[in-house]
Amino acid sequence: MLKPLIAGNWKMNGLTASLQEVEALIEGLQGKDVTADVLICPAATLLDRLTAKTGDSIIETGGQDCHANEKGAHTGDISAEMIADIGGAYVIVGHSERRTDHGETDAMVREKAEAAIRAGLTPIICIGETLEQRKAGQALDVLGQQMGGSIPGGLDGSQFVIAYEPVWAIGTGLTPEAADIKEAHSFMRARLGQSAVKSPDKVRLLYGGSVKPSNATEILSIEDVNGALVGGASLKAQDFLGIIFH
Ligand code: PEP
Repeated sequence: MLKPLIAGNWKMNGLTASLQEVEALIEGLQGKDVTADVLICPAATLLDRLTAKTGDSIIETGGQDCHANEKGAHTGDISAEMIADIGGAYVIVGHSERRTDHGETDAMVREKAEAAIRAGLTPIICIGETLEQRKAGQALDVLGQQMGGSIPGGLDGSQFVIAYEPVWAIGTGLTPEAADIKEAHSFMRARLGQSAVKSPDKVRLLYGGSVKPSNATEILSIEDVNGALVGGASLKAQDFLGIIFH
């Protein structure tokens, strides 16, 4: 049984005042039997302060993206080493918003995931089909292609996480049918089993796309769903707690 991971992606949201939400989250988790790993990936401007605030709590922190290089002339970027240096443990790579806004390809995502592992971080590698691809019956083919192109070779299953995020479900309030999530996750699990990944059963497969307290129980009870990547509902401590303690 894999320990679930409930990961919050704050995206380009959050100012200093948002650190109060982290305080509320720490308070809400304190003394409770928390059966999942809890992660927040804030904007880069908050990562250092938020990591310091989480202190001895069970909350881990991570970046939303990293450059493939360790350092150098890449204005505006941050490296995996920088995230590790301030105590981050994870980094999201290949989120569909990065693939769309910044033209990131599977090859680029793979290089970022490799950089994350070099720096001692756990990459959360995001994949997912568009609505057009789903309607055309291509969803599983797309997932297979993205897995083949984005996951570095020679890894152990404990070194990375995959997030299945149908692009059309992100931030829209729409979610796939439970049967479709199950189909996608069992496809990913089987594909990992046929890959060069060592201990493929150790890879945590997250679902992401409009997860909220009201649908968390159903989604997180689907076979091979080992946690959630949560956008909007991670911004408010009460909502995020509602998902953690679904
Ligand atoms: C995300 O950003 O990864 C995400 C799943 O967003 P939301 O939960 O808001 O759909």
